[in-house]
Amino acid sequence: MARLDIADGFDVHDYRSKLKLITQDAGSMTLANREGLGCPACGDPFERLFVSDDETVRFASAPNGPICLARTDERLLVLTH
Ligand SMILES: [Zn+2]
Repeated sequence: MARLDIADGFDVHDYRSKLKLITQDAGSMTLANREGLGCPACGDPFERLFVSDDETVRFASAPNGPICLARTDERLLVLTH
């Protein structure tokens, strides 16, 4: 199974067919995992991927399942399972 590869950063255009854009604002976006891509942190398929360029992020609520974090030089990635 393919794993989300962030060794050279994260560019959503590399995963256009595998990730579906759900929401987007100036610095952040939330994507749904369409094809069971593996999480860069744990390897298991994730459900949602949140990507942010912002310095700080607040989540109003948290999902029940596991949460993984990954970072590139420019972005923070939060993956929910
Ligand atoms: Zn994970």
